[in-house]
Amino acid sequence: MALSEDSHCKPLGKVRPHQTQNEALVFEKSSPGKRGYKLPPLDVPAADAGEVLGAAHRAKKAGLPELSEIEIVRHFTRLSTWNYAIDLGMYPLGSCTMKYNPRVNEWVARIEGLAEAHPYRPDHLAQGQLQVIDLLQRCLTEITGMEAITLQPAAGAHGEFTGILLVRAWHESQGNARKKIIIPDSAHGTNPATAAICGYTVENLKSNAEGGIDLEALERQVDGETAALMLTNPSTIGVFESRIHRIAEILHAKGALLYMDGANMNALVGKVRPGDFGVDVMHLNLHKTFSTPHGGGGPGSGPVACKKFLEPFLPTPVMVKNEKGEMRWEYDRPQSVGRVRAFFGNTGMFIRALAYILANGPDGLRQTTEDAVLNANYIRAKLEDVFELPYKTASMHEVVFSDKRQAARGVKTGDIAKRLIDYGFHPYTVSFPLIVPGALMIEPTESESKEELDLFIEAMRSIAREVEETPEVVKTAPHSTRVSRLDEVQAARKPVLRWRP
Ligand SMILES: *Cc1c(COP(=O)(O)O)cnc(C)c1O
Repeated sequence: MALSEDSHCKPLGKVRPHQTQNEALVFEKSSPGKRGYKLPPLDVPAADAGEVLGAAHRAKKAGLPELSEIEIVRHFTRLSTWNYAIDLGMYPLGSCTMKYNPRVNEWVARIEGLAEAHPYRPDHLAQGQLQVIDLLQRCLTEITGMEAITLQPAAGAHGEFTGILLVRAWHESQGNARKKIIIPDSAHGTNPATAAICGYTVENLKSNAEGGIDLEALERQVDGETAALMLTNPSTIGVFESRIHRIAEILHAKGALLYMDGANMNALVGKVRPGDFGVDVMHLNLHKTFSTPHGGGGPGSGPVACKKFLEPFLPTPVMVKNEKGEMRWEYDRPQSVGRVRAFFGNTGMFIRALAYILANGPDGLRQTTEDAVLNANYIRAKLEDVFELPYKTASMHEVVFSDKRQAARGVKTGDIAKRLIDYGFHPYTVSFPLIVPGALMIEPTESESKEELDLFIEAMRSIAREVEETPEVVKTAPHSTRVSRLDEVQAARKPVLRWRP
């Protein structure tokens, strides 16, 4: 298959592999005997591989592609240019907080003594690294207003899992395991999954018309079997739960705990502290709130901060300090829920988050929060005359529209998102949260300048006009990418995820 007739990048001569859409030409590059490495001549007698490796010796050649070094470099460089990245432009994927990762973070994370520290180094030889971890722990407990912390969990959902294990261990220590966890319908989807995986029954709690919690319904629902409420705050519609104090009181009166999903702390840092408004345990997403690379399945970090009474249950090891200020990992914690991650967590992410916190300082962190909220509200103000705004409550770090007006013309949120690609932007989050039918969930983060926001707003307004005038253009987008519409059902049911010889 050559380039299609209507392609805007018609080749002049022979089609070169990087210009073609033909998968075979793009991906099937292997030819026998090519290699991308060269070994020096042997300076010892050759050994028999079968003898040395025993049962581990392959009977057949591994089916790996055979390529020269430059072919590999070109292949991956080419693929990278087909991708979108925060380093290319705004990445308004709501709830994911795709903010820019300042290069100073990368510089610090690559300092040899930190980057190459071996996790098996004895504590007395790792004091510098332990100090980094200790300082980050102290910064995060101060930012959240909590009293104890673990940095072990490797992602937000993993933090939720760890936090709910603490809740369960505490209830068990009180002689009452309890059975259920209440989760509002405005929560992140990982919350009910977490509660279920920790062995709880999940009870749904409906939001009120403002997108907040219905306090009377909550009061009726909480009983002696309620272990906790998991509250995403700000919620997935970008609304701050302003009566959280009262929610904490209702729970505590019945012996239940308040878990806060703090993945959206980028809307609160430097303004309010969950520890001050009654939260017992929460997680943070370092790979959202505190920059650090995000997406593509790369390393994340989901620290869990809690109040003092939950500290004995934290995963082992826990960092302790003696009177001389020397630090060591303590493993002997009889009430601990155990380990949730190898070693101490993703330490590279700790270094990046700490660099971000220290480079911004307290005033800078508060400013980033204010800018994130300002940017979301600027987009809201500039788009609310063309896109339906289902919840009128003030927006925090993100704004959620619905496709109601466009759907009336047969164009759905997914179509608008795909058309946005043609305008040079990554799509916003599509069809989530579920309480908003046809949701467009937009989170610009504080990284974006007014100029970039204006370009985005212009693109969205222009697409809204197209929906009125030439809806087909939107319904068949994207038109500028290597591949246009995929068979999404097929891609989800039968994903082809690896190369096969
Ligand atoms: C991103 C997110 C999570 C999950 O975090 P992961 O690191 O992707 O596991 C949980 N809750 C909220 C509100 C989030 O935005």
